[in-house]
Amino acid sequence: MKRYCFDLDGTVYRGKTGIPTAVAFIKQLQQAGNEPFYITNNSSKTREQLQEALRQIGIEAPLSHIYSSALSTASYVAQHFKKVRVIGSEGIWTALASQGVEVCEDQDVDALVMGIDRMITYEKLAEASLVVQRGAQLIGTNQDIRFPTETGFVPGNGSFVNLIANVAGVEPIYIGKPSPVMLEMIANEHGLHREELVMVGDNYDTDIMCGLRYGCTTVHVDTGVTPTAAVLTKEQKPDYIIADLSQLNINE
Ligand SMILES: [Mg+2]
Repeated sequence: MKRYCFDLDGTVYRGKTGIPTAVAFIKQLQQAGNEPFYITNNSSKTREQLQEALRQIGIEAPLSHIYSSALSTASYVAQHFKKVRVIGSEGIWTALASQGVEVCEDQDVDALVMGIDRMITYEKLAEASLVVQRGAQLIGTNQDIRFPTETGFVPGNGSFVNLIANVAGVEPIYIGKPSPVMLEMIANEHGLHREELVMVGDNYDTDIMCGLRYGCTTVHVDTGVTPTAAVLTKEQKPDYIIADLSQLNINE
């Protein structure tokens, strides 16, 4: 049985609106006893908040099946760094605290961890640039430049991490997709093998690359960031290129 891992923004919902073909496909899987996984680069929400966002579009998801870049960034940071500064929202702050990482406002820290912060200001960006110039490793929860909403694209975390990297002249480390870290966590924690996993996403550079790097089956849906025409020009193509999930059979 194939186990599905769905990206969220642009794959399962746009803003607060569910994508009907995705919601229907997920319900079919659940009715067949095949509980899917959710894997998002969004670091702003906690697991509980992501669960609530799914509930709002009619999907009941167990917490243990929801993975975010905040969770995987926190476990990476806990393994490699002691004292960090953070720009981000509740998701990343909660995840770092649960891993016991010391978060402070000092000038001298081991790392600057950046997730999406919708209250970002010039002052925060300037301060972060200075901290990184003093030697803190720049870590981004994810490198998404933009993400889709009901009304169009808005800046993603990668846009702000790039800004700091350019000012400080450093290379950031990114944890979210296309890094295969989150798929590895799913496989490890649920006792699954890569041959069983299917990564479904709208963004070629993050979702599809993540699946390709990890070595599992990949499905691109044309409901979000990367249009099908752009996917067809790529050298490494996903296993399935579909308009939406009504074209996929749950038994495939
Ligand atoms: Mg997406």
